[in-house]
Amino acid sequence: MNSDCIFCKIANKEINANLIYEDENTVAFNDLNPQAPVHFLVIPKKHYESLNEIKDKEEFGNIFSVIPKIAEKLGIKEYRTVVNTGESAGQTVFHVHIHVMAGRKFTWPAG
Ligand code: 5GP
Ligand code: ZN
Repeated sequence: MNSDCIFCKIANKEINANLIYEDENTVAFNDLNPQAPVHFLVIPKKHYESLNEIKDKEEFGNIFSVIPKIAEKLGIKEYRTVVNTGESAGQTVFHVHIHVMAGRKFTWPAG
């Protein structure tokens, strides 16, 4: 728990983010500023600043393996997943999170 971290506060329910999924290790919630009709974030409850800080295979498994479960629950089969790591990659919140977006056509390469 990092007391300055907004996503730690969401994971700890100090801030209400209307969780769409929760288990022992992870939570998922809709992005405040959605970039697609469906846009949610999956985070580990434990604070890691970025993907670079996760050394534990199990933790990788925890955050990625919930995506298909949530997608099934929401009835989406096609989606874009993004993890921005570091400022130049577009990371603005320094608690690791996976963006999952769906409901529109996405272009490639990402901007
Ligand atoms: P990043 O730019 O770090 O990859 O993504 C951070 C994301 O978190 C952005 O898409 C932003 O809209 C979202 N975000 C920032 N603060 C909050 C918040 O307090 N609540 C929610 N639900 N999303 C947030
Ligand atoms: Zn945090």
